[in-house]
Amino acid sequence: MPIAPVFASYEHPFSTPACLDGVLEVIEAAPFVFAMRGDLGLAGLMALGADAGAVGTSSTVRNLWLPRKNSGSNRSRTILVPAAASWVPLTDLAEAVLEPRAGEPFRCDCPVCGDGGDVRDLLSVGAAIQREHSNAAAIALVRQIAAASDPVARWREVCERAADTYARFDTDGIMPASRPPMLDAWLTWLG
Ligand SMILES: [Zn+2]
Repeated sequence: MPIAPVFASYEHPFSTPACLDGVLEVIEAAPFVFAMRGDLGLAGLMALGADAGAVGTSSTVRNLWLPRKNSGSNRSRTILVPAAASWVPLTDLAEAVLEPRAGEPFRCDCPVCGDGGDVRDLLSVGAAIQREHSNAAAIALVRQIAAASDPVARWREVCERAADTYARFDTDGIMPASRPPMLDAWLTWLG
């Protein structure tokens, strides 16, 4: 009989290495694991042995956040920034300062953005196309990790690159984005 454990928290449910230990226990014990409603962390879960996964297409269907007073009322729409392995609020992206085409942190080669595309170009398109980009880029990233000869090593590279991207956002004053605790948890857990 299928069993569906739900990981929920006031913060990101996988925001500490201990949370990742717990989910790994589930992955190791179950004969088949389908990780649903995830963000890019599910690429990590698949690298560690989950059989399949589904990335949530909007923040309301990615992970389960416990209800809190006044939460979510002023959340901006988000868009996936592949180099940061995270969805970044459009309001932050609109304030990003960086020479237009020296934009390695904003590069995206998904089918929507095209070769050498830049996610900031999506600020001027509609929400449906922004979502299409986020979905295409997320799927491409997860597939790349799943197909790697060493998926855990590839996932570690993705997390390290994302940490570098956030460091660059901060030290180069590119934009005010804070590094998600989920990323720190993975980096600590992967060692
Ligand atoms: Zn894209």
